[in-house]
Amino acid sequence: MEKKEMIYEGKAKKVYRTEDPYELIVDYKDDATAFNGQKKGQIAGKGAVNNTMSNIMFGILEEKGVPTHLVKQISERETLVRAVDILPLEVIIRNVSAGSFAKRYGVEEGILFDEPTFEFSYKNDDLGDPLMVESHALALKLATKEDIEVIRKYALTVNEEMKKFFLEANLRLIDFKLEFGRDRETGKIILADEISPDTCRLWDVDTGEKMDKDRFRRDLGNLEETYRAVLERVKEKA
Ligand code: UDP
Repeated sequence: MEKKEMIYEGKAKKVYRTEDPYELIVDYKDDATAFNGQKKGQIAGKGAVNNTMSNIMFGILEEKGVPTHLVKQISERETLVRAVDILPLEVIIRNVSAGSFAKRYGVEEGILFDEPTFEFSYKNDDLGDPLMVESHALALKLATKEDIEVIRKYALTVNEEMKKFFLEANLRLIDFKLEFGRDRETGKIILADEISPDTCRLWDVDTGEKMDKDRFRRDLGNLEETYRAVLERVKEKA
């Protein structure tokens, strides 16, 4: 599939058109950003890790009945995906308190919840991706009630499957973010974007060590090594 012109460049990926209007090529970058783009850096090899890991996770999820944008990986950093219109809602699932949850409620990180939490952020950089309640998403017609029900069902399946999978890789799935899109050809809601150490919090089961983007956010060091180690564990269990 031939890569045509770039149609979008985000913080972590570039997106290219192909000759098929319903398929795009994503090209993962090594750039890392945090705190709404205020902190910037590079993590050598991150693009290749996130691309490969995401594709492994999407392959597993497809088998469990969650449709995704994955068509096929075409190189270390590039993947052919279905063209979607991304819904401007970030879907966040949490199993354990951390990050903005711990900060918002003034609690420590590491509290295990009885049930996973489900929340939306409004995907809007100018506003800093604020937390958004469902009725506001409906009021602004960002998604329909049916879309939200489908998204909730898929997101909870993703959580159950990923929790099991990561545990086998000796990693605790603390929380993660998903993005869904509407397939431009079929109109169906499918899982898009990525699943990687940039979008999940993963703690080593034995040591509690953070093995995700918090190492970058909090200057904990060993960035390249950690991203590579997560991919190795994932590959071993896939
Ligand atoms: N997350 C993400 N992109 C964002 C915001 C959050 O991938 O723009 C992920 C983050 O890595 C974590 C989960 O979503 O796994 C929950 O993040 P949180 O709301 O705690 O925000 P943060 O602490 O990252 O600001």
